[in-house]
Amino acid sequence: MASVTVVGSVNRDVVLQVRALPRPGETVHAVGSREGMGGKGANQAVAAARLGSAVRLVAKVGGDARDILASLAQDGVDTGWITTADRTRTGLALITVDEPGENTIVLEGGANRELTVADLPEVLTSAGDVLMAQGEIPPEVTGAAITRAANQGATVILNPAPAYAFDDDVLKRVDVLVPNLGELCTLLGVPVPATSGEVGKLLARHPLPVAALVVTLGADGAIVHDQDGTVHIPAPRVAAVDTVGAGDTFCGALADSLVRGRSLRAAAERAVLAAALSVTGVGAQSAMPTAEEVDLFAQQQEKTR
Ligand code: AMP
Repeated sequence: MASVTVVGSVNRDVVLQVRALPRPGETVHAVGSREGMGGKGANQAVAAARLGSAVRLVAKVGGDARDILASLAQDGVDTGWITTADRTRTGLALITVDEPGENTIVLEGGANRELTVADLPEVLTSAGDVLMAQGEIPPEVTGAAITRAANQGATVILNPAPAYAFDDDVLKRVDVLVPNLGELCTLLGVPVPATSGEVGKLLARHPLPVAALVVTLGADGAIVHDQDGTVHIPAPRVAAVDTVGAGDTFCGALADSLVRGRSLRAAAERAVLAAALSVTGVGAQSAMPTAEEVDLFAQQQEKTR
């Protein structure tokens, strides 16, 4: 069976719940706190594994990550290509979440910064596999992984988060670019539009050398833009509790569907459902749904149409 290879970050998340996000210079009291497991690489790997895909994660952690490795393995993620930098800490994310569920994140890359091209397996992927990459590891490693997987006949998905100026030579090898609206605007060097209705116009004349784009729009769902045109996929209405990890659930679900051979549009429709379910629970990996939960939610959505 074809599999999903994720090359990316592993972080420990420290989450502080606040009434309102602090402004610069302001101190606010947290109303709650918790520790969790995160990092876009680990999150997307868990999201795809929970939906049933065979998933391998290539990453670097510090000597303090035994619990994280055990948790990834528990979720069925193949951790055989995660290397350890003993004298370094695992990446750290300091996350603040306000009452409406919006968040800010400060990242300390830690061991993620020590992942090198030499850590990538020669046989990274096989034809028919999916490679998932993000922006939280050194750019040369992301670039090498994308090029190698594309040469090996894999479908390449890049979640440009955080967004930076990816090389055009790398972007040309990407099959599906999955930014959120802010990341898309950073890549295009334009201000974020006031309404998501204007995204179609941005996409109609985008200069990015990628085959297809899926732009996530929070509670507004997502837009798929490829050679067949531009389609908006609305998100179902849910009671959002915590949006941390929604984008990662979306990306992992997209990878899970694409490796099963679903069309990009069908994959994005399922990813919108999986991500909506993820915002109804607290935490990133802890709130990611199983395939059965997404199937049930899809049936419920059908009935309410
Ligand atoms: P974002 O990274 O905020 O664009 O969110 C990623 C995806 O999560 C979106 O494309 C939606 O499918 C889903 N999502 C995020 N926030 C919500 C919400 N409040 N209600 C439903 N779905 C959401």
